[in-house]
Amino acid sequence: SGPEVARLVASRVLDVPDFPKPGVMFKDLMPLFADGTAFREVIDGIIAYHGRDSFDAVVGIEARGFVLAAAVAYATGVGVVPVRKAGKLPRATHSASYALEYGEATLEVHQDAFTAGHRVLVLDDVLATGGTAEATLDLVERAGGTVAGFTVLMELGFLKGRERLAPRPVHALLTV
Ligand code: AMP
Repeated sequence: SGPEVARLVASRVLDVPDFPKPGVMFKDLMPLFADGTAFREVIDGIIAYHGRDSFDAVVGIEARGFVLAAAVAYATGVGVVPVRKAGKLPRATHSASYALEYGEATLEVHQDAFTAGHRVLVLDDVLATGGTAEATLDLVERAGGTVAGFTVLMELGFLKGRERLAPRPVHALLTV
């Protein structure tokens, strides 16, 4: 159930202060990924929440989103598409840039990543300010997909990423 999966995520996250820079509390979900039983429960929880017939493709956001997306895609028999940092994808891409505290980040997706109208479930580990997710959802639509859902393991509620993404729904297994 939802509360059980939330407790599972809460029990497997490690808070790492001042990573990757001073003042940031990094939410390290590697212990969850490394626990086979917990990882499977989380993947099954994501699929159950959305319904296995509600999407035709899964997007993972580099890099921890890849782990989640591959597992959900395999379990449901759909394909997996990467959204990557600039310069990593070999063919023609759409790209979306967004502001960071200092500077800018750019994400890319292959222009031919989706069949027109494909319903796309987007996955990442943590939702913080929402800049990464906003750029990704934009890329999915520009590449011809329809966003079927956006799920993260953990949402940092005080950073208001959910509001930034509104009215698009955000599903977080755990909100802190
Ligand atoms: P944002 O664009 O601010 O929502 O940041 C989300 C992206 O950065 C996700 O891909 C996360 O993996 C990563 N991220 C941002 N803040 C954290 C954090 N405190 N702990 C772990 N990952 C984070």
